[in-house]
Amino acid sequence: MIRIPALAALLIAGIGPAAPYAAQPEPAAAPEVVQPRPGTTPAEQREPEAPPAQAESSRPPGAAQPASAAGLAPRAATSTPARSEPEPASAAAQPQPEAAGGDDQPADDGWGFEDDEEEDGWGFEDDEEGDDAWSFADDEADTETWGTLLRDQAVDIGFFTGFAALVLVGFFRKSVPLKYVTLAAAVAYMGFTKSQLISVVNVYGLVTGNMPVFRYSLAWYLFAAFTVVTTVLWGRLYCGRVCAFGALTQLMDRVVPARLRVEVPPWLEHRAAWIKYGLLVAVLLYFLATADIPAYRWVEPFWMFTRRGTTAMWIALAVLLVATVFVRNLYCRFLCPVGAFLGILSKATVFRIKRWKECDTCKICEKACEWGAIQGPRIDMTECVRCDDCERLYADVKKCPHWLLLLRAKRRQRQAAPSVIPVRPVAST
Ligand code: SF4
Ligand code: SF4
Ligand code: SF4
Repeated sequence: MIRIPALAALLIAGIGPAAPYAAQPEPAAAPEVVQPRPGTTPAEQREPEAPPAQAESSRPPGAAQPASAAGLAPRAATSTPARSEPEPASAAAQPQPEAAGGDDQPADDGWGFEDDEEEDGWGFEDDEEGDDAWSFADDEADTETWGTLLRDQAVDIGFFTGFAALVLVGFFRKSVPLKYVTLAAAVAYMGFTKSQLISVVNVYGLVTGNMPVFRYSLAWYLFAAFTVVTTVLWGRLYCGRVCAFGALTQLMDRVVPARLRVEVPPWLEHRAAWIKYGLLVAVLLYFLATADIPAYRWVEPFWMFTRRGTTAMWIALAVLLVATVFVRNLYCRFLCPVGAFLGILSKATVFRIKRWKECDTCKICEKACEWGAIQGPRIDMTECVRCDDCERLYADVKKCPHWLLLLRAKRRQRQAAPSVIPVRPVAST
């Protein structure tokens, strides 16, 4: 039995913008504070900015953006980075100097791309060592307070709060139009604007205890907490409405002609659903054995929202999306390690979908579920993404046999009841 509070606390702490590959060890000395740097990951916030020309030249063509591709951090997060000295690159912690001007392009390979600049991991000449290679002014004052931190991140926090409110209102109202508005917002805002998705790299962070700096990642912790709390309370709400890739495939499903769709038989569906759990275990073991982070891109297509990928990655993505035309939500149902992770977490779901006793024999909801989560009367919360389809049926007095039988029973009762003839009192003579 999963202990919910302990697990939730663990996950909130672990799921965050810091990725093992990106996070730099904290400097021994207390960091000085520099000006807020928009568009940074928490890990990047601990890193100094590289001069634009140097940073750009060290980025190999086609290199994916690490943090955003992994869905690790808000691309436009406004934050106050701490100053740190450049660290040598290592297998598990590649430095990622950021292009100046708030652009979030990665400045080094950090992904295992071939790169012949290997002197200091930052692309600077060795003779700069020992100097203040970052040209920080020595007289920068330590002006960081919670007030400034909150102010710097207020836009991100505000936008995510608004988006989360939209998610919850649509969910509780069981509104179809609101659900599609939420999905469109998830693609546009969480996907293409922020590239903010839960990634398997976050699971790596959880396993290795590589935590982001809380004060620089408030919006991200809000996002992570929202994901974990809603999953524990209601199940995979994140998959049903927040994840940009899942939202994209759900929207695709609405526009793709139904005649193209191939229905996966239930026996195959239930077996194929295990693939994602196998993939989750495989990528975790692979990471633990090799500390090779870039490999995650081959099991997750989330990098697409950064629009940076190699030719091979784009071809693989195209194949996946074409296959999704025929098999709805293919990646989410069978392949996504994050979906598997959240599925395990959703075993602890507190507020489950209700069932009538008529559900024992009725197959209406089972046929309506596009995620293969209903098997007879049972709803498999690990597969359910709280899309509401069955809950709308549950409440539909015209379609759900529960209400129809209830109505019929009431009608019979009314017919069987003896009619009462009003008796007029007889006037006494
Ligand atoms: S299964 Fe994966 S891709 Fe699909 S919605 Fe969930 S996290 Fe996103
Ligand atoms: S339509 Fe009603 S009775 Fe049938 S499975 Fe759905 S909730 Fe149960
Ligand atoms: S139809 Fe019901 S069981 Fe299936 S995914 Fe949607 S909410 Fe979950």
